[in-house]
Amino acid sequence: PPDVEALGRSTWTFLHSLTAAYPTTATPEQQAEMRSFLNLFSRLYPCWVCADDFRAWMNEPGGRNQPRLAGRAEFGHWMCEAHNAVNRKLGKKEFDCRFWEERWRTGWKD
Ligand code: FAD
Repeated sequence: PPDVEALGRSTWTFLHSLTAAYPTTATPEQQAEMRSFLNLFSRLYPCWVCADDFRAWMNEPGGRNQPRLAGRAEFGHWMCEAHNAVNRKLGKKEFDCRFWEERWRTGWKD
C-alpha cells in the first residue's frame, strides 16, 4: 500500500537525519539513549511487518548488526547498512555507504 512507502521515505529521512545530528563522539549516556530509542522504534514503527523484520535484522545471531553508537561515523554507516538490508529485501538498488554523509549531512561535493 502507498502509505507504507510514504511512511518509509519520511522515516528514512528522519532516521538518517538523526545520525547526521549525532555527536562526533557520543557519551555513554547519549549512546544509551539512542539504544533505547532504536529498541522502542523497532517495536512501535506502525508497519508491523517492517518493524518485525527490522528488529530481527538488528538482533541477528552473532551481534553483527547491533547498533554501532560510538559516534556519528559509525552510527551513520550502521543506519545505511540497515537501510540497505531493507533495500535488498525489496529488490531495490543498494546505496554506497561511503556516501551516506554527503547524502544526509554535508550535501554532495559536485
Ligand atoms: P527509500 O528506501 O525510502 O529511500 C529514500 C532515499 O534514501 C532514497 O531516495 C535515497 O536517496 C536514500 N537512500 C537509499 N538507500 C539508502 C541507504 N542505504 N543509506 C542512506 N540513504 C539511502 N517497505 C516494505 O514494503 N516492506 C518492508 O518490510 C519495509 N521495511 C521498512 C523498515 C524500515 C525501518 C523503514 C524505515 C522502512 C521500511 N519500508 C518497508 C519502506 C521502504 O524502505 C521504502 O521507504 C519505501 O519502499 C519507499 O522507497 P523509495 O524507493 O522511495 O526510497
